Amino acid sequence: MAILDRLPTKDRLVRFGIAVDSSCGLCRSSFESRDHIFSDCAFAMVVWHAILHACGLSQEPLCCNDLVRWLLLNLKGKSLMVQVLKLAWSGFIYFIWEERNHRLFRVLAVNGDDEGEETMFLRVDSTVMSSTAGNRCLFQAPW
Ligand SMILES: [Zn+2]
Repeated sequence: MAILDRLPTKDRLVRFGIAVDSSCGLCRSSFESRDHIFSDCAFAMVVWHAILHACGLSQEPLCCNDLVRWLLLNLKGKSLMVQVLKLAWSGFIYFIWEERNHRLFRVLAVNGDDEGEETMFLRVDSTVMSSTAGNRCLFQAPW
């Protein structure tokens, strides 16, 4: 859904004629779109770069389409690193979207109870750990 740009992001809701506050549900400082949430948003980028760091990788900021191209080029094969990155990418998409929805629908931001970037990273870390039988050799928490 995220790669196909089919998530009900605010830019899509506006295109469908639905009146919504179009600011990003995570950072509230930019227009919300798939490209913003998964490649431009400061909140999400802290989490994504923590994931890359945990895998011993680094990456220049990429637009969403270039990020997907990077994933398609680099997530081939069956090595442990590829498996970890696939799990981490899936966890990243899932937990970022979940946090965006929590902030929008539970109004936690008003109460200051938002989950931070570290918590998002730890959720991805937990997903990777539970799916790789606890193999921590490639995924080292930066915090
Ligand atoms: Zn944002």
